[in-house]
Amino acid sequence: MNTQTKLQKQGYKWARVSEMFEETPPCGSNCEIQKKYPGYEGLWCRLIMAVTSYAMTKNSVAVIHGPSNCAWAVRNFCQTNYALYYGNSFLQMPVTDINQHDVISGGIDKLINTLKEVDRDYKPEHICVFDSCSTALIGDDIETAIKTAQQSCNAKIDYISSAGFISPPLGKSIEETAAKYADMMEKPEEIIENTVNILGQYKEQQDSSHAGRQKRCKHKNRRGKYLDDASELSRLIEGIGLDIHRILISGAYDYIKTAPQAKVNIISCPTWGIPLAKRMEERFNTPYIEQCIPIGIEPTEKWIMELAKFTGKTKEAEFFIQKELQEIMPEFEKAKNMVNGKTALIECGRNSQTAFARPMALARALEELGMKIRLFGLHPLELKAKETDFNYFMQEGFDPLILNGNYAYQQPVNISHVVEDLELKQGEYVYFTQDVFPAARGGCFDPANIPRVETGVHLRRVVNAPGRGVGFKGAKALYKSVIEAVMFSERASKPTLYGRVHGDFYENI
Ligand code: SF4
Repeated sequence: MNTQTKLQKQGYKWARVSEMFEETPPCGSNCEIQKKYPGYEGLWCRLIMAVTSYAMTKNSVAVIHGPSNCAWAVRNFCQTNYALYYGNSFLQMPVTDINQHDVISGGIDKLINTLKEVDRDYKPEHICVFDSCSTALIGDDIETAIKTAQQSCNAKIDYISSAGFISPPLGKSIEETAAKYADMMEKPEEIIENTVNILGQYKEQQDSSHAGRQKRCKHKNRRGKYLDDASELSRLIEGIGLDIHRILISGAYDYIKTAPQAKVNIISCPTWGIPLAKRMEERFNTPYIEQCIPIGIEPTEKWIMELAKFTGKTKEAEFFIQKELQEIMPEFEKAKNMVNGKTALIECGRNSQTAFARPMALARALEELGMKIRLFGLHPLELKAKETDFNYFMQEGFDPLILNGNYAYQQPVNISHVVEDLELKQGEYVYFTQDVFPAARGGCFDPANIPRVETGVHLRRVVNAPGRGVGFKGAKALYKSVIEAVMFSERASKPTLYGRVHGDFYENI
């Protein structure tokens, strides 16, 4: 008799994150990868990731050096996935419109002319050139084109290499793109005491029209009463008597280039933050604090205390933490009583299959509540491409169980198979979503009978709490969401509209 579960029949197994990392062939080992994960293509092209990071800047124009279709692909992505929620609501991105003749004769003249026209017509402070597959393959000398155009342009012009065929997995694209922002910075004439940069703050645009202490970036929060993460991280830093210097990637050119004046860097998202911190350390000797993505009590305490030790603010930090803990402990205890010993099913993205740092940081916070951690929905190659994040969590000694297997391309794992495989009964687990289109099925798997906490940055909205749930305010909001989700699931009737409309999971069709 075959006693294998549906998941096992499909070749999935539970493994430590470290085991999944070790068992996955290195990125770039194409034959091995194709053998193990046939047809895996990565998610978004590097050009898309690079331009979206630039969408957090201000008074800037992205020049796409490539065919118009590459630019339209990026525009489409930006307008549907980013501009509605994050950053610049309409990043200008003219294109050099490389055609079949240019790929033979070269596109440099077109690039120089486009840069001059953009400088004249848009009058930005900064222009960044992004190349594409075709212009990288024909070897257009972009640096020389920029030098030539720069002689007659007022805007500062930089270049981020972004051809889609380079480093297809997302993590590698991000790593290489993030470090490029250090190349836009200038050697500081002075280091400003007690100042801190927050690095790796992606998908938030700060208003850098003011710079420096009084002039520090004022939050013009597009989310209104729903805070962005930078608001909470700034509150923690200022709460121990330090000043925010810059929050990156964000702001106008002048704001970015003066970032090395800060005494120290601290990191929010490791995927974006660590590569930039390392490059700034190499180039400007700016030290950085190794703690990242503070979700939950202990990670937030460590994040603050490491910074406090470095800056001589230990006493202030201890006092600050004590006060904050008093504020959140009632919700922590209540949530813990409700979910202690239950399983946290944490999805690492639905069809994107790429989220790692955020689900891991959430898992650390849920472990504090006494939950058993099970991560799923992360493609092994996307984990392999996030080696920086992986190393960070391993160094912290956090190595939970994750579902390893040959994931179908962009197809969510059926959560009912996960539940069956783990032999979980109603009331024994909580579902934590991380992305759009969460699973739902009225009468069977719906918030009305299975507790569900929305933790994805796209959809999570909690009044006066940061989107990704960082810091003490984020922790308190997480505990409240857990309490509400468990209480709501006790209704056990009248499924939500979403669950009724969604019907059978679309991944089953
Ligand atoms: S051709 Fe290359 S750069 Fe253009 S959209 Fe496709 S992968 Fe991206």
